Amino acid sequence: MKNVTVDGCQRDIVIDGGKISRIVQAGEFEKSFPTFGYDVLDCSSLTAIPGFVNSHTHAAMALMRGVGEDMLFQDWIKRIWDIEAGLHKEFVYWGTKVACLEMIRTGTTVFNDQYWFSSTAREAAAEMGILPAVSYIFLEGEGRPDAETQKAKCQKWYDASLGWGDSAIFTVSVHSVYSVSENLIKWAAEFARDHGIKLHIHVSETLKENQDCQAAHGGLSPVEYLDSLGALWSDVIAAHTLWLSDNDVRILGGHGVSCVHNINSNLKLSSGYKFRYTELKEAGANLCLGTDGCASSNNLDMLEAMKTSAIVQKAWREDPSVMPLDELVAMATENGARALGLQSGRIEEGLRADICLVDTRSSFFLSPAPFLANLVYSSHSDCIRTVIAGGKIVMKDRVIPGEEEILANAANVLTQLKK
Ligand SMILES: [Zn+2]
Repeated sequence: MKNVTVDGCQRDIVIDGGKISRIVQAGEFEKSFPTFGYDVLDCSSLTAIPGFVNSHTHAAMALMRGVGEDMLFQDWIKRIWDIEAGLHKEFVYWGTKVACLEMIRTGTTVFNDQYWFSSTAREAAAEMGILPAVSYIFLEGEGRPDAETQKAKCQKWYDASLGWGDSAIFTVSVHSVYSVSENLIKWAAEFARDHGIKLHIHVSETLKENQDCQAAHGGLSPVEYLDSLGALWSDVIAAHTLWLSDNDVRILGGHGVSCVHNINSNLKLSSGYKFRYTELKEAGANLCLGTDGCASSNNLDMLEAMKTSAIVQKAWREDPSVMPLDELVAMATENGARALGLQSGRIEEGLRADICLVDTRSSFFLSPAPFLANLVYSSHSDCIRTVIAGGKIVMKDRVIPGEEEILANAANVLTQLKK
């Protein structure tokens, strides 16, 4: 990559073996090294930013946009589970591909997924060139396999994941405290700890979840309950964490849990919006950003998630200095990478080459303001011109190979979806 702007300076970036191997002053690389054997990308008028990490989503729900509009959370989730009862591999395959198309277009290079047929989702993402973290998901209830069957499946999927190489990260998911029993939560947490893998779980998404948990578990909040089961530690990725007491904040921070804010989903489902950003940060939690699935947030645009997160946080706290730009960008990049144990999320030598090239030739960037201000608050994600994931170009000049075929196949699969 030559003549690319990084932090306001002109640079050449060399990518080798999927990583950023050198960052030098523009012009230096060609002077010092023969370019033979390298593909050279001229990036004049483009600014490099790290690829985004979507820390909580349900990718294949890209084919379920708008299926539960204007519904209460409890009715909405029943509607989703009803549709999912008829789910099949082909739906997940093309749904994940559509999600990847959208994520690539909007600058996401890594995503933390929680969905069914995850090995199919993994294949779809690998073909698209971006990195997924996929789960075995524990979820109990009517029509679901019994606990012993789920444990055996989790073990089997984990064993299979050992052959995935760098194409995906395997995680264990517990859907939530209200949909999985105490014994199974304990088992899943122990399994994740024993194998050194991440545990992904929805936590305190709604006030009702908190009230029900307190009623069922002797007054314990979901965070206190999970802590009592030994299910909170630094490898836990907790989605939402919206309804938190001071004690909950202390527990999450004390364990260094990664808390994922999903503002658009929360606003849309009226789950709440007072994410305790400042308190969680001060307590020591790792704060990340996600979109949640398209059935609630309707898109997978991390720039949109960044803007909404910041303006809502500033509004309810009546403090415009909260969630400043550099911290906001870190939530969407390096903090998400840290949550997944990845060396990524910054434009730095030695890190995974996950890079978005932003075209600044538009009115949105014609301003004396810093680049990040224009990027997050003024522009839209269509300013992202080229995306590199793990060192490979997955979108060049807004073109993603195979897009038409993906959209046609996904449209075909949609006709089979249970109405
Ligand atoms: Zn979710």
